[in-house]
Amino acid sequence: MTPAERPAPLRANWPQRTHTCGELRLSHAAQAVTLNGWVHRRRDQGGLIFIDLRDRYGITQIVINRDEAPEAHEAAGSARSEYVLSVGGQVRARPEGTANPDLATGDIELGVHTVTVLAESKAPPFEITAETNVDESVRLRHRYLDLRRRRLRELIELRHEIVREMREYLWERSFLELETPTLVRSTPEGSRDFVVPSRLHPGNFYALPQSPQQMKQLIMVAGMDRYFQLARCYRDEDLRADRVFEHTQLDIEMAFVDREDILQLIESLYLQIVGKLSSQTLAEVPFPRISYAEAIRRFGTDKPDVRFGLELVDVAPDVTGRGFRAFDDAVDDGGQVKAVVAPGIAGYSRREVSALQDIVQESGAAGMATIALNDDGSIRSPLGRFFDEDSLRAAAQNAGASRGDLVCIVAGAPEIVAEALGTLRLHLGHALDLIQPDQLAFVWIIDFPLFEIDKESGGYTFSHNPFCSPADDSFGLLYSDPGRALSKQYDLVGNGHEIGGGSIRAHRAKDLRRIYQVMGYSEPEIDDSIGHMLEAFTYGAPPHGGIAMGVDRLAMILGGTENLRDVTVFPKNQAGFDLTLGAPGPLLPDQLAELHLRVREEQEESASAG
Ligand code: ASP
Repeated sequence: MTPAERPAPLRANWPQRTHTCGELRLSHAAQAVTLNGWVHRRRDQGGLIFIDLRDRYGITQIVINRDEAPEAHEAAGSARSEYVLSVGGQVRARPEGTANPDLATGDIELGVHTVTVLAESKAPPFEITAETNVDESVRLRHRYLDLRRRRLRELIELRHEIVREMREYLWERSFLELETPTLVRSTPEGSRDFVVPSRLHPGNFYALPQSPQQMKQLIMVAGMDRYFQLARCYRDEDLRADRVFEHTQLDIEMAFVDREDILQLIESLYLQIVGKLSSQTLAEVPFPRISYAEAIRRFGTDKPDVRFGLELVDVAPDVTGRGFRAFDDAVDDGGQVKAVVAPGIAGYSRREVSALQDIVQESGAAGMATIALNDDGSIRSPLGRFFDEDSLRAAAQNAGASRGDLVCIVAGAPEIVAEALGTLRLHLGHALDLIQPDQLAFVWIIDFPLFEIDKESGGYTFSHNPFCSPADDSFGLLYSDPGRALSKQYDLVGNGHEIGGGSIRAHRAKDLRRIYQVMGYSEPEIDDSIGHMLEAFTYGAPPHGGIAMGVDRLAMILGGTENLRDVTVFPKNQAGFDLTLGAPGPLLPDQLAELHLRVREEQEESASAG
């Protein structure tokens, strides 16, 4: 059931309105009703005025006849687009041949005898009735008008339905819905915090939480073994298309569970949500599970879009040892030579191939070699100087290419090859229309490394979350070879987006302390950073784990939009401004003084300019 099809909820006989604008059918014929709504469209035919009256639930045609209701006709005559009206009248079947099959209320109209203008409206800066391509900043400034448009309203309603399903599902399973504070302590690890100055404690600052991670774990120590929260989380990041300052996550923590319990819980919740709220088809159930290493090997990324193939293949055995330096050197240096086989584009022009080369170079690769297996069986390749035609053909065929395909080869360090070919694969998936748009492909990524190398310090840092437990057979590696330790982290990826992730936690103080030691923390630094967690864990911490699922992302995927702003009631623009309310903005000198803050001059200037 889509949100629009839910029964309209106005059951009480409210004096202001008896029904919604989406509710009336032939079965209501002859009933006297009162509707409230906005003028969606108005057609004045002299003696007769037709108005499409709109509210959240739909549109009803109302008809005002000058002879039957002269006062109502006059009021309706003054109404313009987006005026708010209250209309009273009688439901009747539309005249023969004028029913509108596109409208749920299209069989009826309302013969109106009273019209009251509840509010006038200026001409809106863009049309509410149609899809509009007016500049997004205008739409964001008037977000309340944009939200009157059906497409946006339906996306926002879809989000609501998703949240309702989540809540009901978890309430039924004994989860406590708890609120953790939004004024917390700043932690230097992770992303940059948004901070809030303390008036009462000069020079001290709260931070807005990046996630309720530590608090939900402490809730487990408190014995409340099932917790969830629709948690707002904040990160002061540089903005990119898929990054925003604030997002909502379904935050879950459970005690006495292992990975399987959490994957099952989320998988069945998501199957339920998709079953009820989406007409998209699921690619594979149960959701496939792929190890991190396998995801990187096959797709070049740990967020694979598995709605299409084009998997990365190792071509090193076929193309090294022939004197082509770029390939040989890569392998000698511990790197790889891998390829993606692009179907049907052997005939790409030089310019088209060079556009693909640009893509891999922008993602860090030195270059890209190609082998085109032409339709007539001949070969076209810049590698011709180093390889005879038969070996090129064999290499292409071993890579899985058929006639008409273009083999795109990249050599280099494993991370670079993965990044470049992963990006190229995704580009080709879209460009060659290999993705079925109504498909939903969820996949679990498991067995992540516990640590990764920090690019700045060269030492170890956590790969996802410092509270994550090592895999059962990796505890020893914490002492012998931490770089090889795997973790109990899991991510859920949907259509190539990371839509959730979590882990079973290191619940013994000794293990958590060791993880911080591996990351190079001194004992005082450990105590300062997580002393409170270590102490809590000495008082009987149950084994526990959890997950956080992105609500915005899920709504975006199920709603079939590529834009997070579409599923957010009041989104910021791409520069992080709230154009509706005008945030961020400067503070008055008095407010600054009270907060013990002084703004440096150059910032004052740019703040007032912004
Ligand atoms: N705290 C993690 C996050 O916000 C999720 C988790 O491990 O539960 O991404």
